[in-house]
Amino acid sequence: MDTGALLVILGKQGAGKGTQCVMLSRYYAIPHISSGDMLRSNVRQKTPLGIKAKAAMDAGELIPDEIVTEMIKARLLQDSAISTGFILDGFPRTVSQAKALDDYILPNKFDAVINLDVPQAVVLKRLASRRVCQDCQAVYSTSMPPKVNWTCDICGGEVVQRDDDTEESILRRLELYDKETYPLIDYYTKANILKNINGVGATEVVLKRSIKAIDSALKLRKD
Ligand code: AMP
Repeated sequence: MDTGALLVILGKQGAGKGTQCVMLSRYYAIPHISSGDMLRSNVRQKTPLGIKAKAAMDAGELIPDEIVTEMIKARLLQDSAISTGFILDGFPRTVSQAKALDDYILPNKFDAVINLDVPQAVVLKRLASRRVCQDCQAVYSTSMPPKVNWTCDICGGEVVQRDDDTEESILRRLELYDKETYPLIDYYTKANILKNINGVGATEVVLKRSIKAIDSALKLRKD
């Protein structure tokens, strides 16, 4: 079967991955699979996984590789995600997770791994002002709030600050990004599928840059 785009997005917390993924998933008509959203949904529903994960998430620590890998593999098996395409956000986050994903989908099957590049000073500012809808995860900020009283414009859910967007947790998550996730840039560069995208600028401008890079990768696959 012909597949839609098989994509992974990398980038620091606050680089705009969530916002870009929502738009890319609409543009390519593929599901947006976010490990963070899945974990937060487990926390809200107080599932055994959510109860176990909450403290680590609030502190900005990573959830053990095996647990997150199992969760993502189970999700990839739903709605034939592998044959119809998807965009993975927040996973893989360590080299060990990337290797586990390779056992499942070889890196050369991916059309592109987008690295959304944003300087640290910009992400720190964005994270401090970030607000999200508790229900649909739409992203807002203190300078771009929803139209009515912190009620989501899209679904009417309550728009709040994430429990892990505290100063301490933000610094820990960025530290872990450098230590655990940054090596994936090298990993996917070697696999020849990394696309560096400048993530600074208006949302639509960044989106156009990503689409251009992905379309050229898709064209290569079809040629
Ligand atoms: P995110 O929404 O991607 O920033 O993820 C929020 C939190 O969920 C992270 O700080 C981790 O605690 C946890 N998490 C999400 N994805 C992963 C992953 N792939 N591996 C380990 N922990 C994760």
